[in-house]
Amino acid sequence: MGRLILTPKGLSWFRKGHPWIFGNDLERNRDAAPGSIVSLETKSGKFLAQGFYSDQSKIAFRLISRTKEAIDGNYWKKCILKASQYRQAVVAQTNAYRLVFGESDGIPSLIIDRYGDHMVMQTLTQGTENLIPLITEILLDIFHPHSIILRNDLAVRELEGLPPEKKIIVGDSPPRVELLEGEIRYQADLWNGQKTGAYLDQRENRLLAARFLRGRVVDAFCYNGLFGLHAARNASRVIGVDSSPEAIQQARENALLNGLINIEFRKENVFDFFKREANEEQGYDGIILDPPAFAKSKEDIAGATRGYKELNRRAIRLLKPGGILVTSSCSYNLSESKFLEILRDCGKDLGCTLRIIERRGQSADHPVLLSFPESFYLKCLFLEKI
Ligand code: SAH
Repeated sequence: MGRLILTPKGLSWFRKGHPWIFGNDLERNRDAAPGSIVSLETKSGKFLAQGFYSDQSKIAFRLISRTKEAIDGNYWKKCILKASQYRQAVVAQTNAYRLVFGESDGIPSLIIDRYGDHMVMQTLTQGTENLIPLITEILLDIFHPHSIILRNDLAVRELEGLPPEKKIIVGDSPPRVELLEGEIRYQADLWNGQKTGAYLDQRENRLLAARFLRGRVVDAFCYNGLFGLHAARNASRVIGVDSSPEAIQQARENALLNGLINIEFRKENVFDFFKREANEEQGYDGIILDPPAFAKSKEDIAGATRGYKELNRRAIRLLKPGGILVTSSCSYNLSESKFLEILRDCGKDLGCTLRIIERRGQSADHPVLLSFPESFYLKCLFLEKI
């Protein structure tokens, strides 16, 4: 097994519990193969942990275990079984959920989503890339899926020197899979859809938000329509807006699937939609905002702050008194406190008071490690305009 040695600065960082070690916190003499499992040691040779080594990424080491136990097929099988047991406890009202969420499940940089009898896997680093055959075998053994798709068409893989790739590694995946989320049926395209087919991280927020949404509702950045479809069961009228034609097409089909006729979907830029609606007298009773991440890196924070502020201000202005805003940010780089500050400023600018109904994060199948702040990325607030 290869070895990596921590610098004194790296050692004090490691002791804080974060699962990543950056290359500049390691001594130069590295005896490790790219993507292999290595032991992390102090300068004096004391064993600290085992983890994946990457020779390309700034994140050179990702923690697997703080013990010397064998990291073999059996070990990974136990990890996946544990991940599955946890989902059995926390996931309800759906057959589509995240089965493995990387570091949060002890398998750094591995994502496995389950869509009924189908699975989608993403290996984001050299370490998990090497494990594809082994993990596939384990998934077949435990879950007997009809298909497994490898959706490695992600730009982050470039940081690891890995190419984008998309392939079916088990079975023949149907183009669309029909799924259930609470009372709503929907189809997801696991091959071409965004993420791995659906935004599973918003599932619990969608189910809960529907309880508060009545009257005239806008679902902005609606993707395949799920927030809006849930809302449409109680609301009088829902408009879903998204700039992606494929998403709008899917959203319309999902409305048909549920026999919902009080919902319409428009292919439009949300900013244009709100600008046009600004002259609308009637106002809305509920607005959902679920934009893509505006702050993809720390450098984007200032621009992202302006973007979130403009968007939320436009939405809040359109809300009637007593109206509900369900607003999200999936930018890890923008903290929850910063997001709250932006929203407070919106209220101040518009001369209205905003009351928090719910302060939420991603669904429980995307668990957060306290020692790994990067795992808490989705913020979702339900606010009432009073
Ligand atoms: N609310 C969805 C997820 C939304 S993801 C759900 O719960 O499933 C963000 C969506 O915003 C994507 O579908 C993307 O196509 C869309 N999008 C990105 N920029 C946009 C813009 N300027 N106007 C409208 N839609 C946009």
